[in-house]
Amino acid sequence: MPRIPSTRGRLKDTPVLGQKRVLLAAPRGYCAGVDRAVIAVEKALEHYGSPVYVRKQIVHNIHVVTELEKKGAIFVEEVDEVPPGSHIVFSAHGVSPAVVNAAADRGLQAIDATCPLVTKVHREAVRFARDDFEILLIGHEGHEEVEGTAGEAPEHTTLVGSPDEADTIEVRDPNKVVWLSQTTLSVDETMETVRRLRARFPNLQDPPSDDICYATQNRQVAIKKVAKDADLVIVVGSANSSNSVRLVEVALEYGAKAAYRVDYASEVKQEWLDGVATVGVTSGASVPEELVQELLADLADAGYGDVHPVKTAEEDLIFSLPKELRKGRSGAQDARALGGRTRSND
Ligand code: SF4
Repeated sequence: MPRIPSTRGRLKDTPVLGQKRVLLAAPRGYCAGVDRAVIAVEKALEHYGSPVYVRKQIVHNIHVVTELEKKGAIFVEEVDEVPPGSHIVFSAHGVSPAVVNAAADRGLQAIDATCPLVTKVHREAVRFARDDFEILLIGHEGHEEVEGTAGEAPEHTTLVGSPDEADTIEVRDPNKVVWLSQTTLSVDETMETVRRLRARFPNLQDPPSDDICYATQNRQVAIKKVAKDADLVIVVGSANSSNSVRLVEVALEYGAKAAYRVDYASEVKQEWLDGVATVGVTSGASVPEELVQELLADLADAGYGDVHPVKTAEEDLIFSLPKELRKGRSGAQDARALGGRTRSND
């Protein structure tokens, strides 16, 4: 992607007590599902030419969306905005069967970039609904991922939006309930919701494996370690990115004196740095590393050029491209296509 316009020299190097430094969280930034979804749009543009339509933001990052628009992607809210016969990419957050059917009815050529870890939750929902469980879906109302998962089993799904809601929801049969969750929640808050659900429904079943994905968990673990030593934490990520917003909350819970989310380095305010010796930096799972590097360059101008990586996990997960884009490609080619973006940057 092209570089972002430079904001170098905007932040001033003002004196503080102590040594100025940055604690740079790792893992941060792009996860395997986001990487795959972005490449899927790029490959679709290569294969089929512009325009390629994308339902909703392919990933929740304004920079990524803007750059793909420049390459010929057209983002729409619903499939009925797309001319019949066109190619449409479903976003990493997943879609309900109703959306898949609406696209087919319209004669659209669908490319499903749903993250495989979201698809896993969809399959769990289908299976538990088939066994006549009531699914208590922990997640945020209106989030695309929640709409997609709930859409797999609308008659069997009850949304639980917060720990407080766990205290009041009513279920059909307390002996036939299971909880599932959105993939990008706060681990701690979700466990609190589950604890309160289980206090009311002791026979509550757990999902077969973690629904909160590895990338969300890893980024939260890393920022917890950074936050305890940080006067200020800056999270690069968009306002509609659930996992980015959670990183701000987790940083504040785990000791950061202040924490802010920015889309771009240019949004950092000089006053945030007043009296700050240690700045923690991380980024959400939909954020390209170049946006973090831009922030680090600006922070270096302000005297924070001493950067210490704080690494809590290695990530090497790679997903193959959506099957619609795999025709004629070997698995090794897919892995190479995806592998270039999932390396650790530290
Ligand atoms: S945040 Fe997790 S679930 Fe979402 S796209 Fe990334 S890996 Fe997949």
